[in-house]
Amino acid sequence: MGDCIFCKIVEKKLPAKIVYEDDIVIAFDDISPQAPVHTLIIPRKHISTLMDIKDDELNLLGYMIKIARKIAKDRGIADRGFRLVTNCNPESGQSVYHIHLHMLGGRRMHWPPG
Ligand code: 5GP
Ligand code: ZN
Repeated sequence: MGDCIFCKIVEKKLPAKIVYEDDIVIAFDDISPQAPVHTLIIPRKHISTLMDIKDDELNLLGYMIKIARKIAKDRGIADRGFRLVTNCNPESGQSVYHIHLHMLGGRRMHWPPG
């Protein structure tokens, strides 16, 4: 959609280190990693924020979590632990308006987050 960076990654018009893709989602490493594993899981379909997901497509989030679990196993962090984060709208710090799950792992996480 328009100027969306993540749509450009989906369309392969922008390079990314893709770690998984299928007909529904694509996952790639974050350009500015905040942990040894920092992968973003996004739907191919452009949806701007969590608030824009329609009730009848909420199963998409479950599918994104399923793929996050697979990637966690592949990257060896499933048992050690990892964090899934999704930011929604300005006060959360959302900077790319195409929904994504951040998967962070490979180091001890702190709580509460900043
Ligand atoms: P948000 O701030 O919206 O929760 O997360 C957006 C994430 O996308 C940030 O962690 C940022 O580093 C990452 N990001 C922004 N532009 C690009 C890009 O062009 N390629 C990749 N791989 N990640 C990006
Ligand atoms: Zn998009």
